Amino acid sequence: MSRVALVTGGTRGIGAAISIGLKAAGYAVAANYAGNDEAAAAFKAETGIPVFKWDVSSYEACTDGVGRVEADLGPVEILVNNAGITRDAMFHKMTPQQWREVVDTNLSGLFNMTHPVWSGMRDRGFGRIVNISSINGQKGQMGQANYSAAKAGDLGFTKALAQEGAAKNITVNAICPGYIGTEMVRAIPEKVLAERIIPQIPVGRLGEPEEIARCVVFLASDDAGFITGSTISANGGQFFV
Ligand code: NDP
Repeated sequence: MSRVALVTGGTRGIGAAISIGLKAAGYAVAANYAGNDEAAAAFKAETGIPVFKWDVSSYEACTDGVGRVEADLGPVEILVNNAGITRDAMFHKMTPQQWREVVDTNLSGLFNMTHPVWSGMRDRGFGRIVNISSINGQKGQMGQANYSAAKAGDLGFTKALAQEGAAKNITVNAICPGYIGTEMVRAIPEKVLAERIIPQIPVGRLGEPEEIARCVVFLASDDAGFITGSTISANGGQFFV
């Protein structure tokens, strides 16, 4: 029987490519989303991948959502924590709400989603968790104190949990994408992309969502069993320690 993979924010952008990549690799995939019913319905119609709506920033909603996925498909063996948002502002203008929304979704969302699947993975002696962080969590980005803090937190979470999961054959890894051509990045004005962003990327282009999806498919596979607590930087050659 196919292993069950759950992708948060799995209906659009990078998450959609991950859902499609995992399905093509033979997994039974469930794609979560937050509120864009139209995009989710179109994604479901196009891919045949079932979609499940809940907000990853709510612990109760995640427990309930994981329950619904497991009732329909079976125990979640692969969890991809991909859902993320930005609420950019220079720090002197950043509101507590902008801070909270980003941290609640991009950092606490990992706790909220991983906690309900963790015991089952431990009991079964197998699990794969892949957290989608960001280059901006590695290097920091002006206008994104909230996002950079949350995404850096994702990396600490990954490394700590990898140590706890190792004895139970659960791997926990992170991917730090650079600039990927999704709606989140296409929302940046064309002039800023062409004059300020693309020139920073040694390969000279934005990444494709499928290039992140292929990293996830590898980390989810049996072949990646010795890789845990790691970060894959997929950023077109931008180097950051
Ligand atoms: P998109 O905005 O294209 O898609 C975001 C997805 O996440 C949507 O499916 C959305 O659902 C879902 N989502 C957002 N908030 C929640 C929530 N609270 N609960 C459940 N689902 C939610 O994002 P990207 O594909 O660009 O980004 C995906 C991940 O990659 C994010 O974590 C982002 O931070 C990270 N990343 C992206 C980069 C890029 O260049 N694009 C670079 C580095 C990292 P709905 O459709 O309902 O809104």
